[in-house]
Amino acid sequence: MIDSHIHLDADQYADRKGLIKRARAAGVTAAVVPGVSPESNRRVLELSADYPGFVKPALGLHPELPEITESDIAGTLAMLEARRDSIYAVGEVGLPWYGEAASRPGAQEKARAVLARFARAAADLDLALILHCPHRTAPRALALIRSAGVRRAVFHWHKSDEATTREIIEAGYFVSLTPEVVYRERDQALARIVPLGNVLVETDGPWPYGGPFAGQATEPAMLARVVAALAVIKGESERTIAEATAENTRLLFGI
Ligand SMILES: [Zn+2]
Repeated sequence: MIDSHIHLDADQYADRKGLIKRARAAGVTAAVVPGVSPESNRRVLELSADYPGFVKPALGLHPELPEITESDIAGTLAMLEARRDSIYAVGEVGLPWYGEAASRPGAQEKARAVLARFARAAADLDLALILHCPHRTAPRALALIRSAGVRRAVFHWHKSDEATTREIIEAGYFVSLTPEVVYRERDQALARIVPLGNVLVETDGPWPYGGPFAGQATEPAMLARVVAALAVIKGESERTIAEATAENTRLLFGI
């Protein structure tokens, strides 16, 4: 298995050696670690040097950041170009939905212009794009990345209407499922409609989960439960699910 999205640079992860050991013991061989800010991008690159093989770095600017300056954008774009051969994706980028940044006047137009620049970079550098585009931002992002000529993308922790999900799949892009698929009907319904060839698994750690994971620190080892839940939904063996989702992740990111 590969954790396709975890913020391993977060301060909550003090014992990374232990986490990677537990991940490997559970069958997780690698993790894609997307940066979310200039500082986070630097830490992600350090982590990939500290844990080569396990940490697959990506560089981005999270759309829910309270403020994104022109110098943050230009700096991140320059870093993407300079590090093209040692990274696996542009991300985490996208459109804001939850935070205060999403509702400010003009915020959506500004966010779309920023995402368009990162989408063009992904197309030009031939890198995958990791998108944070929940709910009604997903169809807007889909139109935008298609017109930018993005060839490979994942709608991470995907949640949107069914028609949009079907368009994402038809366009050949991926969606990823989190531990919520173990206990939440919304995510199980999504898992039923997405073909196995378009699914990735992720933890989005350190985000905390409920249900059977309540009170637990989020770690890549949790993916074993995600794969088991998907196996039941898809009527396939856990091995088939683990291999298919890992292969999808390798294809998307060129791992
Ligand atoms: Zn994330």
